[in-house]
Formats: sequence, C-alpha cells, structure tokens
Amino acid sequence: MEHATRTKDFLKRTQRQFGKRLARDVASIADIWRRVEAGEPAADDLPTLVRLVHGLAGSGATFGYPAVSKVGQDLEAAVSPIAETQKPVTARQRKHVAELLVSLRHAARERAGAPDRAARTGSASRAGAAGNLIFLVEDDPQQVATIAGELTLFGYDVQRFSRPRTVLQAIARTLPAAVVIDIVLDGDRDAGFALAERLRKTAGRAIPLIFASTRNDFDARLTAIRAGADHYLVKPFDPILLIDCLDSITIPNRDPYRVLIVEDDRTLAASYAEALKSAGMRPVVVNDPRRLLDEMEALDPELIVMDVFLPECTGIELAKIIRQDDANTAVPIVFLSTEARIDEQLIAMSFGGDDFLTKPIALDQLVASVVSRAQRARALRSLMTRDSFTGLLNRASFLDQLTMALAGAKRTGGKLSVALLDIDRFKQINDTHGHAVGDRVIKSLARLMQQRLRKSDVIGRYGGEEFAVVLAGTGVAQAARVMDEVREAFGALRYNIEGDQLLVTFSCGVADLTSSPSASGLLEAADQALYRAKAAGRNRVEAAQRKTTK
Ligand code: GH3
Ligand code: MG
Ligand code: MG
Ligand code: MG
Repeated sequence: MEHATRTKDFLKRTQRQFGKRLARDVASIADIWRRVEAGEPAADDLPTLVRLVHGLAGSGATFGYPAVSKVGQDLEAAVSPIAETQKPVTARQRKHVAELLVSLRHAARERAGAPDRAARTGSASRAGAAGNLIFLVEDDPQQVATIAGELTLFGYDVQRFSRPRTVLQAIARTLPAAVVIDIVLDGDRDAGFALAERLRKTAGRAIPLIFASTRNDFDARLTAIRAGADHYLVKPFDPILLIDCLDSITIPNRDPYRVLIVEDDRTLAASYAEALKSAGMRPVVVNDPRRLLDEMEALDPELIVMDVFLPECTGIELAKIIRQDDANTAVPIVFLSTEARIDEQLIAMSFGGDDFLTKPIALDQLVASVVSRAQRARALRSLMTRDSFTGLLNRASFLDQLTMALAGAKRTGGKLSVALLDIDRFKQINDTHGHAVGDRVIKSLARLMQQRLRKSDVIGRYGGEEFAVVLAGTGVAQAARVMDEVREAFGALRYNIEGDQLLVTFSCGVADLTSSPSASGLLEAADQALYRAKAAGRNRVEAAQRKTTK
C-alpha cells in the first residue's frame, strides 16, 4: 500500500476508533457522575472522571468533534474543583454538570450527521449513539410496566410509545441507544416492520433494533433480519434476556484483544501494531525472538502474529517452542511470510500454526483476519473459563485469577481483597417461586456485579448461588464499602412475579492481606466473615477481623 493511502486509511480508522471511544467515555462519565453525585464515589472515580473529561477536551477537535472539546473543557472546569476538595456536590454543581452532560451527549452525536457517515451501517454507525436511552414501542400496558420497570432498575432510561407516529417525532429529535419494537401494534401484524423502516429513514442511519413479539414464524424472523434487527425476542420473555440484548448493544467490549506481533522488521512491526491499535486492539511487538517467552508471559496473548523469517531461527521453530508449554496449546498463531508457496504453508500449519497470511498484506486485511481469529479464540477460551449461565469466571479460573492477582500484589506491595457473597434464603425462593425465578435472580446479581464493579475486579461464580470477587489494589474497608453498594443496589431490584414483587438480598464477607497472605487463607477469612454476616441477620457485609487483633 502507498504510504499516503496508508496514512489516510489510518486516520480514517483512528477517527472511527475515536467515535467508539467517545461513546464509551460518555457512558463512563455519566456512570461515575451518578456515583459522585450520590456521595458514594469509588476510590478512583474522581481522578478517573477528571482524566476522562480532560481527555475529551484535548482530543475531540482532532478527530472532528470540536463541540466535544468545548464541553469537555467546561466539564473539566466543573469537576476538577470537586475532585480537588472532595467536598459533597452542591445543588448548583449538580444542575450545572447535569446540563453539561446533556450537551456532551449532543456533542458526541454531532459527527453522526456528517455525510461521510451516512453510508455506514452496523456497529460503526452506532458509535455516536451514546447513553442508555431506550425507546420502547409497545401497545400492551402490562408488558410496558414489566419491561420498563426492569430496564430502569438496570440503569436504562426508558421512553415509552404506543403508536408509530409519536416515536417518529421523538427520533427526529433524539437518537436513542436502541429501539425495542413490538411487531404487532393495534392489530396490524406487520406494523413494527414498517415502523423500523421509517425510523431508519427519519434518523438517517441504522439504529440498534430489537423486535419483541408473540410472532415466532419464519416470515417474521426473516423480515426482522431484513429490517436490520439486532435481536429478536419471542414473548413472553424473561426481561433479563432483554437486558442482555441491550447490554450487548450499549456496553462496548472494553477489553481489547491482546495480540503479540513477532516481526524483526521494526518499521513493519510498528505499522502492524499501529493498525491493530487503531482498530481497538492491544498489540505488543517482539523484534527479538529471544524475548518471546517473557513477552508472552507478560501479555498472555489471545493471538500471535508470527513472521516466518527471523534472525537466528524461523517462525516455525518458535511455534514449536511455544507449543511445548501446555498453557500455550490453544493460542492461535498466524504466520506472516512473503513465502506464498503452498508447501511452506503446509509445513507451518502442521507445526501448530493456525493460519498463513502472505506478505505484503494490506493493513485492513491484517486487521480483519486478526479480529475474526481473536474473536473466535476468545469465545473458545471463554467456554473453558466461564460459567455459561452468568458469563462470570467459573470456580477454577477464578482461583487461577486470584493466584495471579496475589502474585501481582506481592510484587508491587499493593493491597488486595477477596469478597464472598451468598444469596440469602435462596432455597426458599426456589421453593416458593420455582427454579426459573431463582435462576433469574442469580443472573441479575451477576449482571449487577459486572456493571457495578471495576473492569479490573475479578468476578467468579463460586458455587450455585455463591459468588466471589477479587478487588485488586483495595483494602478491606474500601472493599466492604464497594460490596455494600452492590448489596444495596441488589436489594433494590424488584422482581415482578405474577403481580407480586419479590425482594432478594445477599450476605457478604470480605478479607484482605492483613488477614492472610495466601489464597486459601483469604478465602477462609472471607468465608468466616460471610458466616458472621449470615449469623448477624443476613443482608449485610462483614469485614474479616485482622489476624493480629483477636
Ligand atoms: P442462606 O441465607 O443461609 O444462604 O440460605 P439459603 O437458602 O440460600 O441456603 P443455601 O446457601 O444452603 O442454599 C443454596 C440453594 O441454592 C440450594 C440450591 O438448591 C440452590 N441453587 C444452587 N444453584 C442454583 C442454581 O443455579 N439455580 C437455582 N435456581 N438454584 C440454585
Ligand atoms: Mg402488540
Ligand atoms: Mg449457599
Ligand atoms: Mg444462600
């Protein structure tokens, strides 16, 4: 590829990337602000908030969002004093920031109308649709009550419409993060489809769409796909399913793919890395094969891009070395070589390379192949390490992660806490309302923790209705505060069951390294604290007693 083309391409990609980041940042800023406003910020909330708004102020204009820079500056001016003084937020500050957040959402969508975006479809076009505003088009008041209630509990703003005309008017003013459409409206079997079409025209772009319908026929499903449906739910459905769908649309994948690039040509390696980075991945370059194993240990790559011709050894030999370690049998290796000869490719494959790409490779082609392979690798790995029902780490991999986090804390001298949670009187819930309701409770707690805890916190499903969390960098008092917030949020969830409202609570025990330096000791201490929480009446968080104080 010509250098000029490459640069232009790269710029285009970084702009697109920025759009995605913007949506993510706006959501995080709103999240953090909610906690700050409530007077319950997590430890790093305020510095993170300042960093995020500062980042937007400094970068928006570069990527074609001048208004974002402006609002970012205003926000920075507004929140910096709060972060500095750590004083409670005043009513005036609250109002001011709320207004700025509205402006920020608008500013973040500003590029959306630009002509060069009109042609885009799919996920890229969603970049600008920030926030958690959901349009619900549904004519059955009962459904509306159930769904809207649940969505609100899970942090979505719901605007409800019962007829097409009003939703079209609304979408001309505001773009929601997603629209949930009932297909059958006012007795018209296809009303939802016609509406979807007009929504897209009015909005001037594709909007994330979920159809919810009693219809389950092939025609309906096919028409839905053609109308651009992201999800299709058959009524009656568990509201948690709808939350899952909305989350998959509105919560971007925050965890970039980790890709190791083994390539001795530094310029080439750098441009590969640049391309992968601009597509949202996390590449690490190894120029010297001798550094490979160390870098693998540090990065834990999900995919390796391997040059075949290297100084001192070949990529094929390196692949053999990698595969000698049992822990590395699953990581896919993509060979890159100017050698297009089929027999070379076959040799590479038989030694554990999963694929072969021919140099020179266009950067977008490299990105596309790496993304699809990394995606699959992650999905496969997730089958092994995650509980399929909640998506949380299973017990075994939770324990692995705890061991790793513990080693990290020892290396850096940092803090670390472990929390164990057990849902209260869960047997009774199963007995009274049935297993399905119990399952729903488990899933909603998992979802709540994923939403409330930090990205760096490790969350596992420890047993049936037991969960465990590792909070790195956090002492026991702070961890207990964090878990208490989760406890309160969970206790506030209202499960609508045949007209009844079910409230559920959990108990939690927390311990940190002052209780024990070992994984088993920590779990033991947290378990004892949990036991005390249960004994003291449940629905509470107990911190482990320090080892020294009796
Ligand atoms: P306590 O407050 O003392 O914890 O009371 P509890 O009733 O929750 O007691 P316990 O923790 O011993 O009960 C756990 C029950 O959870 C037993 C089991 O039937 C149920 N359970 C375990 N896994 C699942 C699951 O995946 N789904 C459902 N619905 N129930 C489960
Ligand atoms: Mg209907
Ligand atoms: Mg239990
Ligand atoms: Mg229990």
